[in-house]
Amino acid sequence: MQRPDLMHLSSTRWDLVVIGGGITGAGILLEAARRGKKTLLLERADYAAGASSRSSKMVHGGLRYIAQGDIALTRQSLRERERLLRELPHMVVELPYLFPIRRGRFPGRLPMQALLFIYDFLAGRRTQRWLPRKQVLQDYPALSQQGLRGALRYGDALTDDARLVQRVLHEARLEGGVTGNYLPVTRIEAHASGFAVHVSDALHGSGACLQADQVVNATGAWADRLSGSQAKIRAQRGSHLFVPADKIALHDCLTFMHPEDGRPVFAFPWKGAVCIGTTDLDHGPLDEQEACCSAAEVDYLLTAINQQWPNLALRAEDLLSSMAGVRPIIASGKGRHPAQERRDHAVWRSADGVVSVAGGKLTTFRLIALDVLRTIGFLDSRDHRRAVQQACFRHAVADPHRLSHPLAAPAVGAELREQIGWILQHEQVVHLDDLMLRRLRAGHVMASGGEELLTEVGALCRAQLGWDEARWQQEKTRYQAIIAEHYAIAGSPARTAAREETP
Ligand SMILES: Cc1cc2nc3c(=O)[nH]c(=O)nc-3n(C[C@H](O)[C@H](O)[C@H](O)COP(=O)(O)OP(=O)(O)OC[C@H]3O[C@@H](n4cnc5c(N)ncnc54)[C@H](O)[C@@H]3O)c2cc1C
Repeated sequence: MQRPDLMHLSSTRWDLVVIGGGITGAGILLEAARRGKKTLLLERADYAAGASSRSSKMVHGGLRYIAQGDIALTRQSLRERERLLRELPHMVVELPYLFPIRRGRFPGRLPMQALLFIYDFLAGRRTQRWLPRKQVLQDYPALSQQGLRGALRYGDALTDDARLVQRVLHEARLEGGVTGNYLPVTRIEAHASGFAVHVSDALHGSGACLQADQVVNATGAWADRLSGSQAKIRAQRGSHLFVPADKIALHDCLTFMHPEDGRPVFAFPWKGAVCIGTTDLDHGPLDEQEACCSAAEVDYLLTAINQQWPNLALRAEDLLSSMAGVRPIIASGKGRHPAQERRDHAVWRSADGVVSVAGGKLTTFRLIALDVLRTIGFLDSRDHRRAVQQACFRHAVADPHRLSHPLAAPAVGAELREQIGWILQHEQVVHLDDLMLRRLRAGHVMASGGEELLTEVGALCRAQLGWDEARWQQEKTRYQAIIAEHYAIAGSPARTAAREETP
């Protein structure tokens, strides 16, 4: 599938231009296109290159939001969780969560059971169950026995975030939406009759000015740069580590409090590996560099894991990769700790008429989109109420079954070839990193960014994308640099060498 040509895009007057190709922008594109609006989405890098490929991949209500008193956000998120489980059963799957209860540690069994009772009640079904100590140790014999009384097991859901974005974009294109990646918006000018959106082509260096009646800025952590209003975003970094599955055998999402600061930490099976996260830190000023997991964050997460599995003695050398994302949190301005800031979204219109949206969660992307459409006048309150009840995914899409399953390990052989064939035909791959990191996800969960797949991947890219040898070498070098600089473990020889080479 080709990216659309800028000249062609500038010959249309758009009802709506959406800036940002994360889950928020994708959801807005889908809901606007579905209503017959001529809608274009512009992404400056690859789709889901921001927070939407670097989340904790949980489709959940967020237990801690109940603890923070945010019942409405939890209820809405749980309804969306249930809808996604129903509508995308091969992409959003139920996963048991296990919360060990230890003597003298907060929270104890009763408060946790009460919290889960409310959580299940809001979701409309009971999932929690008490597991006595003996059963916990049968399932996880190497788990620390210190003060262990038992564990609470409850149900929540897991997805592949970047593939969810692809699925929403696919649905949007079937509804008539148009999308372009590697098309950064550099400026928006407001006119009496609408907007001029200045966009450049990151691949060919050309530029164009597009005309639109409405513009929505859905650029996540970068939203302040285009919004034309006072800064609202507090950029908060969250990092994860990937560990080979043979190091920690897990079939639940183990959740527990970090021994140093009492923040929740999760370890869960994902795509054939185990993912451990997350941290919650102020990221500082956003530059054009990708966020990276620091050495201190690696230590913080290893400390948490090694406390739960004392004989594991997991070290940085055992890890496959790391991943850091920046949450677009709406700042309260009250000097709260990053973890205490609210997670709900905000939609605001600046003086020039541009509507911006940020915050929220992957789980609630559809509600955020409908909220935006109401703000720009594409939905009135009655239609909005009706739309909230309607299905999100209405088209059958014949994507390879295991490609988007969050628990399926990277494919090899004929299955890999089938997956890549689908991706190259339908998902606007421009660079090798688009394919390895955000379409296949092998770059996260295989050693050295999935280097062992590259020979096969190279042959398919040559055959299907027409890359010659020079282009393939260029892509391989670019990909290996991205892996070394942004996904290799801080302090590892690969990351150190990459940093030394960077001018
Ligand atoms: C560590 C972490 C863990 C999380 N865990 C969960 C979780 O488990 N469950 C959950 O529901 N939510 C979770 N979230 C929240 C969720 O991931 C985010 O709320 C969501 O992905 C935000 O999507 P977005 O589209 O608003 O932003 P992004 O995904 O960041 O997308 C913004 C896009 O805008 C593009 N862009 C920027 N500037 C321009 C420009 N000038 N022109 C064109 N494009 C531009 C960027 O390249 C980017 O792709 C987590 C977030 C983080 C960071």
